[in-house]
This record gives sequence, C-alpha cells and structure tokens, in this order.
Amino acid sequence: MFFRKKKRVFSYKCSDCGDIHKGSPSVYQKRPIHYLNVPKSERDDLTVTSDDLCIIYKTSDKNKEDASYFIRTILEIPITNVEEPMLLGVWVSQSHDSFQKYFETFDDDQSDFSSFGWLHVNQPHYQSFDADGFMTRLGCDVVGQSGGHRPRLYLHDSDHELVFDQRNGISWEKAEKIHKLWIHP
Ligand SMILES: [Zn+2]
Repeated sequence: MFFRKKKRVFSYKCSDCGDIHKGSPSVYQKRPIHYLNVPKSERDDLTVTSDDLCIIYKTSDKNKEDASYFIRTILEIPITNVEEPMLLGVWVSQSHDSFQKYFETFDDDQSDFSSFGWLHVNQPHYQSFDADGFMTRLGCDVVGQSGGHRPRLYLHDSDHELVFDQRNGISWEKAEKIHKLWIHP
C-alpha cells in the first residue's frame, strides 16, 4: 500500500500587508477590460453590464450585429498538493448567438450550455501581448454549470503559460505571488 500525502489547505503570511491569507485564492475581475477601456462618459450610452454579463456597443445606434458580448466565467488552476484549486473569475467574449442562449437560460440549470469563447489575457502575472502589440487572446470552451454556478473555462492548447498552468497546476509559491498581485495591485 502506498502512503498518500494528505493535501494541504493553502495559507500564507503576506509580505505585503502582514496578514495571514487563508484558503485557496478566489479572485475576480469585476468588469471586462473592454468595458474599462470605454471612456467613463460614454459607458451609460454604449454598455449594458452586470456582474455576470456585459454588452459593449460600437455606437449609440446599439447595433446588435457588431456589438461585443462577454460573460463572467471561472478559470481553475490547480495548486500542487493543495486540496482546492485557485479560482480566477474572468470574462470571455461570446458570439451574439452564444450570449443570447446564455442570457436566456441564465436562471435555469445551465449544465447543457457550452460555447466557444476568447479570453483576453490581461490577468495579473499572465498578461501578454502578441508581436503586433495586441493583447494575447486564447480560445477556450465555456461549460455551463447547474445550481446557479458560473460556467467553467477550459483553455484550448497553446504554448501560453496560462494554458500550461491550467493543465499542470502551479506551485504554492507561485499561487502566493499571483494572489498578492490580485489583492495588492
Ligand atoms: Zn496581504
């Protein structure tokens, strides 16, 4: 019989604020970066948003065809030898059809919902840009959940560090470093 090492609960004494931060990190971006990039004076006119859904129109005609659609999802990153994974609340873009379907079933069991999305990589530590200076975006599958839980995100294969970390997990030390970047920017 093999001895199985018991997985630990994540906690650490923070070098930034001196507190003990306990429990696997669960952090989120309140709005998509695309929303934050709309000048404040135009947000009332060009955006519709909540903590789960966001529509950004190109112009005040509010044309549905060329608007951008985002939903908030959860990206799990395992922490080595830790029971609970790190949970990142991130926004992914959706086609108009996928967004519509997600919106219409929002209050229902969404375990049948799945869609393709793009994740723009602007999260602390992972943010990156392509050769032309545009924010990297990673293709992903969005998988709906039941019980009112936010959908889970599964990144498609790519050589990006975030994809590697979702597949392989991160060390305790890296989880500390990333958590601090989120809560003490
Ligand atoms: Zn702290």
